[in-house]
Amino acid sequence: MEFNERTIKIIIDESKCEGCTTHACVDACKTFSRGILELKDGKVCANGSAEELERKGTECLACEYECWFRGNGAITIEAPIEGLDAYRQRHGTN
Ligand code: SF4
Repeated sequence: MEFNERTIKIIIDESKCEGCTTHACVDACKTFSRGILELKDGKVCANGSAEELERKGTECLACEYECWFRGNGAITIEAPIEGLDAYRQRHGTN
């Protein structure tokens, strides 16, 4: 599953959620953001249309952090930084 917030993309590898007992991402989303992530039939899901998720997401990154430490490392967040590729090329850090 994946969805976008304003400037980031949240990617959840649901195959890694099998056997997760903490569902830490859901708690983190409720605690630090607006509760976009929910449990439905024991599985994590994002609640809302693509437009709603993009509008409601606070880009707090808490789900990724909590999944990394208390879940199964299923969440990846892509946060593109405008101009980073050009900067790296200019400074030889590619
Ligand atoms: S904490 Fe991670 S592994 Fe557990 S349900 Fe959430 S995304 Fe899946």
